[in-house]
Amino acid sequence: MTGTQISYYFHCKRHLWLFSHSINMEHNSDTVALGKHISDTTYTRIQHEIHIPSEDGDIVIDFYDAKSKIIHEVKKSDKMEETHIWQVKHYINQLEKKGIIGVTGEIDYPKLKQKIQVELTDYDREELAQIKNEISTIIESEILPEVINKPFCKNCSYYDLCYV
Ligand code: SF4
Repeated sequence: MTGTQISYYFHCKRHLWLFSHSINMEHNSDTVALGKHISDTTYTRIQHEIHIPSEDGDIVIDFYDAKSKIIHEVKKSDKMEETHIWQVKHYINQLEKKGIIGVTGEIDYPKLKQKIQVELTDYDREELAQIKNEISTIIESEILPEVINKPFCKNCSYYDLCYV
């Protein structure tokens, strides 16, 4: 389970299914980054990102400040979205599973000149487990979810596959 899959779960279930079945139409896809082999079991700084091996799949964090225990995520988007928050909650949860307690997150939106603070509550932990179960169900299904006919489909890399 990766932050990217959580993002696609909120974005479009069909996109999640296609991506998770390695049907990739993006040359610059996160698949490339996520597919890098990470043999080290400790944190590895690769350029500006940090790759953390995890039992649920390696996670890629923009930056982790170990001193203040804050995960920093930078979003180029000009819109704040719920999915960004759940991605960071997922990262906090993964660090917890590694015994790193008391971590919080901060999402930076340079275009909006705004920041969001993210915490993981007990309620979130349950919600996250539910989300992950639903993601597993979607991925394991042999049935491709229906197209969603949203305006943003036109900008999706799977547009041709879905509509043409
Ligand atoms: S084109 Fe639309 S329906 Fe198809 S995967 Fe992308 S977002 Fe989903």
